[in-house]
Amino acid sequence: MQVNWRNIHVARNSYAVLLAACGRSGFFLQPVESPAGDITCYSLNSINAPLYHDEIAFADCLTIAGGPHATACPEEVAEYADYVIVGEGEYTLPRLLENIRGGDGGRIPGVMTRDHYEPADTTVRLDAYPAFSVTKGYVEITRGCPFSCGYCQTPQLFGHCMRHRSIDEVAKYANRHGQSRFVSPNAFAYGSDGIHPRWDKIESLFRQCRHQIFFGTFPSEVRPEFVCGESLDLISRYCANTKLHFGAQSGSDAVLRQLHRGHTADDVITAVELCRDHAITPIVDFIVGLPFETDDDQRATGELIQWVARSGNVHVHRFIPLPGTSLAGSTARPLLKEIEKLCGNLALRGKLTGSWDDPEIRFFRRPSNDIP
Ligand code: SF4
Repeated sequence: MQVNWRNIHVARNSYAVLLAACGRSGFFLQPVESPAGDITCYSLNSINAPLYHDEIAFADCLTIAGGPHATACPEEVAEYADYVIVGEGEYTLPRLLENIRGGDGGRIPGVMTRDHYEPADTTVRLDAYPAFSVTKGYVEITRGCPFSCGYCQTPQLFGHCMRHRSIDEVAKYANRHGQSRFVSPNAFAYGSDGIHPRWDKIESLFRQCRHQIFFGTFPSEVRPEFVCGESLDLISRYCANTKLHFGAQSGSDAVLRQLHRGHTADDVITAVELCRDHAITPIVDFIVGLPFETDDDQRATGELIQWVARSGNVHVHRFIPLPGTSLAGSTARPLLKEIEKLCGNLALRGKLTGSWDDPEIRFFRRPSNDIP
């Protein structure tokens, strides 16, 4: 049975992870540019899913779709894909492939078809699966997030309980290559419950990594209230990055409260100042056009963007109401002319990147200014 993987640039780390997981069951996911063979697998996000709709619907092979969009809207995706993986793929995808190969029709937990669904009966333990195999990927160190930010799909995908790959396992993969980067919703929460940091565990992890590591920057980030003297000392002492990436999202405390971000604008200011004191460049994310933002809220965000840009860089994104989030179905608010002008000017000066004017850009292009 020939199983293919549809090459989609933004899903390249999912490919590395699932190639490794399926390889243990004897399936090689052959990368392809169009559906072929017996089965073609897709990982879809909520922006690129429409681009692949017809390709999947009219494929001459069986199709399996997973990823954030398939998990958030499985019924919709099951209308055009033969099998939809709802949730994590490391266990379910090889199990589904074995089931199909055995002629049993793919009716297994965690998979939706047009006429059948049974929720997954497992949760992935990261240590039980390789971070990657022959195709190098980023090492996923943590999955799940205890926060509930209104725009974010992560807790819906992976739950509110943080699961960590063990120090030995992270180091095993990090030490295979000269440079390593990590995946986590909040890298500074590694080893913890996501609320109370465990600097001792992070330091133990760093001590076991023999080569260059980039921590708390692309492709992961950290939360602003985790930026402190201890965390920055660890970065300065053990890591290769001179930048740290964290989310501010808004300059208005009222908006941050409505988003359930769990931090204030002052936390962001403190984090930026601490980075500056440690000679680390802050890269700070903002979302503009949130549905409940007033003009004054948007101006407060503009002021914070301008202030951060003096000592760091900003990523500004236009709000997208992603399915599966508490803000799904809401409408993005237009930008004030002065905010558009501010973003344009900062972009021209190389201080700002992102998709403040076109929300879809962020799912197709990788920001480059946080890659050392
Ligand atoms: S934005 Fe970050 S902190 Fe908030 S829910 Fe998503 S992963 Fe968690």
